[in-house]
Amino acid sequence: MKCLTVELGERSYPIWIGPGVRQKLADLLQQAGIAPGRKLFVVTDQNIAPLYLEDTVQLLTEGGYAVHHFIVPAGEEAKSLAIYEQIMTEALTIGLDRKSAFLALGGGVVGDLTGFAAATYMRGVAFVQVPTTLLAHDSSVGGKVAVNHPLGKNIIGAFHQPKLVAYDTNALTTLPPREVASGFAEVIKHGLIWDASFVTWLEENADGLQAFDHELLQAALLRACSVKVAVVSQDEREQGLRAILNLGHTFGHAFEALTGYKGINHGEAVAIGMVAAARLAERLGLAENISERTVRVLRQYRLPVALPVPLDVDEMLDVMRRDKKGEGGKLVFVLPTAIGKVDIYKNIEEEPVRAVLAELYE
Ligand code: NAD
Ligand code: MG
Repeated sequence: MKCLTVELGERSYPIWIGPGVRQKLADLLQQAGIAPGRKLFVVTDQNIAPLYLEDTVQLLTEGGYAVHHFIVPAGEEAKSLAIYEQIMTEALTIGLDRKSAFLALGGGVVGDLTGFAAATYMRGVAFVQVPTTLLAHDSSVGGKVAVNHPLGKNIIGAFHQPKLVAYDTNALTTLPPREVASGFAEVIKHGLIWDASFVTWLEENADGLQAFDHELLQAALLRACSVKVAVVSQDEREQGLRAILNLGHTFGHAFEALTGYKGINHGEAVAIGMVAAARLAERLGLAENISERTVRVLRQYRLPVALPVPLDVDEMLDVMRRDKKGEGGKLVFVLPTAIGKVDIYKNIEEEPVRAVLAELYE
């Protein structure tokens, strides 16, 4: 098992990655300053509960913690104010106090929702991330937590860093193939924004990684998390640099919103969004010959590279203008200038964006 550290002064925290990390959870919590005897509130979803809840609760109970749990529905719809309120009600009913800790056992949905609950319960309590999806290498690191509003994704949120991320690669083996692909979208994104040699490595190891070779998987997650850690350590609250993590996301959020967060999942939307960003960069003369390679590596990981259903261009533009990265209704995009390099462009004209969207079909 390997460890990375997010360096944020007194808010610094470790990310443990490897097979079997979950077995050591009680020790890792103690090391992170969450002493046995404290109340732990484990939040998970309906798919993960039958796989990993019982043994997680048992391990933590044996480690001396007073463990409660709450199961939310699976899927993006759980990231809602309604479910958030249920979590608050449960937390109050079981008597959690300011010394209690919330523990997210799950993917990005459970992580974002539980993190937002932890950030706001009694003005903020300790929070632990135990990611169970590949995509959650991204969502569990960096402290962005949120729920959705029908008019915008992640629009009600906070910055609340976890005390610890305990990432057990063994838990990834039960993921459905589509979720595996979705997770690789964000892994590839971390290469595309920061490290061309990582993209090459991902191209070369696509088969081994998709066969869940544990050493390769640990290496991929370490590298992808290192990019996120480097960015977040420099710009915790997205004053500038951190926005590069949104490559493909302005487009992607529009695709997710207009398909009602159903037809296309987050990683798939980001994959299509990264293709759109590469094409837009080429169209604007910011980059050459990058969309083809972007498409190729995404396809290697069985990700979609075009919209599967027709979406209204005007509606997409409306959502993108409302994106919280935007300022005053302008179109703001993170665009690649080469493989492994991106920049932030504010005030992009509408016309080239329209052209890219109109051609984003197979
Ligand atoms: P998810 O949490 O919905 O998990 C995907 C599906 O896999 C769910 O059905 C879940 O029940 C199931 N599942 C999870 N772990 C499993 C396991 N080990 N075995 C079998 N099934 C399992 O989705 P996700 O893709 O992990 O996360 C997407 C969310 O993450 C989005 O809401 C996105 O906005 C958010 N996100 C947040 C950040 C951030 O910085 N906070 C970054 C990226 C994404
Ligand atoms: Mg994302």
